[in-house]
Amino acid sequence: MRIPLDAHSTTPLYQQLEAYLRQQILSGTLAAETRLPATRQLAQELGISRITVTNAYAILESEGLIYSREGSGTFVQVRASVPTLDDTADHTAWPRWQQAVANATATPDEAHDASTQSVSKHPRPIRFTGVGDPREYPIKELRHMLQDVLQRDGASALEYGAFDHGYAPLRTTIAHLLASQGITAHPENILVTTGSQQALALVCHLLLKPGDVVLVESPTYNLALELFRTLDVTIVGVPVDAEGMVVEQIEPVLQQYHPKLIYTIPNFQNPTGACLSGIRRRQLVAYADRYNIPLLEDDFVGDLRYDGRLQPALITLAHQGRVIYTGTFSKMLMPGLRVGFLLANGPIFRQLVNLKRVSDLTVSTLMQRMLDAYVNVGQYQRHLQRSCRLYRQRRTAMVAAIHHHLPPTVAVAPVQGGLFMWLRLPAGVSCRALLPWAAEMGVEYAPGTRFFAHPEAGEPYLRLNFATHTPAEIDEGIRRLGQALKLCTV
Ligand code: PMP
Repeated sequence: MRIPLDAHSTTPLYQQLEAYLRQQILSGTLAAETRLPATRQLAQELGISRITVTNAYAILESEGLIYSREGSGTFVQVRASVPTLDDTADHTAWPRWQQAVANATATPDEAHDASTQSVSKHPRPIRFTGVGDPREYPIKELRHMLQDVLQRDGASALEYGAFDHGYAPLRTTIAHLLASQGITAHPENILVTTGSQQALALVCHLLLKPGDVVLVESPTYNLALELFRTLDVTIVGVPVDAEGMVVEQIEPVLQQYHPKLIYTIPNFQNPTGACLSGIRRRQLVAYADRYNIPLLEDDFVGDLRYDGRLQPALITLAHQGRVIYTGTFSKMLMPGLRVGFLLANGPIFRQLVNLKRVSDLTVSTLMQRMLDAYVNVGQYQRHLQRSCRLYRQRRTAMVAAIHHHLPPTVAVAPVQGGLFMWLRLPAGVSCRALLPWAAEMGVEYAPGTRFFAHPEAGEPYLRLNFATHTPAEIDEGIRRLGQALKLCTV
């Protein structure tokens, strides 16, 4: 335990220690039933006498915050309800700088949080809100890879690694993977990032300042919207149809708002699943050129294609340096790996490398090495093929279940890849009003309101992830959704 104690303070050490532990317990940082270090051990760690620790523990015990169990140690007491320190409704209790932060904080989606909690009460909840299927994660193979890497590289696998753009062999491997998508990339132009979310954040922090305008698909990825909100930029949306962003509508928007960035998800967009047509890709790149606007191409599930032809990435259609491309292993493999990357050309690349370095130094060297080894023995490609086969079946199963269990007034857009399906509810039904009914039935979805700059625009929609569940689970989940719809509309 690292506990800041001040030997020169007028407050005795036992009181400092006791106050620190009390704060940790009341804030929930030290959870109920956490075992505290033995008095001798803690005294040694902190360089204080054992009696100081014993005194502090005695006070906490007399207050009922901790208890000792004969022969097994001292533990944090279970309390009926531990108030979290930021629970207080009275913001004036905080220092003034904290009050300013509290006022600027984004409001959480309370309706959705409540439904997430109540769906958990169902004995067999079905959540159409995840990413991939955790039951399919290649745990055994990755365990072997990790062992192999530690054996092969020893301590170098546990170093920071070079503070530049990532583990060099992994960048070469990523360049090869991109080549199979028709993208020619030099490893020197690839920056490995902590998921592609970091890549998006780095680009936006560099290119946008408060008051700027960013042009996005409407709807679009909710955490990109939140990123833009934290940067205090104005979000202007262009509608999406079955062929992706309606690029035919963007010229007047460009002329009116002069955006500083266009953010787009051309392949199997989040949340609609739409894939941008080849013609629109070319038009979009041409507009970005004509109006001199950087394009941020978020290819988060590009490899998960089930039907149709591979469309060219925007970065391959544009002039050098126009597009910044981001990719990730989160959806193709698993999100907890936290390995993504960006591909960029020109002076911006150095700036991005530097911003990444000052943000978090590097992506875990061990994870980069493990991933590189996993791809290079051909496991990644096999896993990807298997995922595509599985998710294709699940996509088809979800379409069939929707037609079987939901009324024909529910519209669903066809999807050729990715993870998501976008539903339009019958007239007059709102996704937020449906949430508690769905939770009651034991099914969860992502409400459409999350994906629009103006949330009200999303009331008629919801997003379903079809990749996380087996066809039988999908059928049951959609049946429950149908029941919820009936209950919500009577
Ligand atoms: N882009 C899109 C469209 C996403 O949906 C996500 C995560 N769901 C990301 C980027 C970021 O993913 P990660 O940081 O895990 O790579």
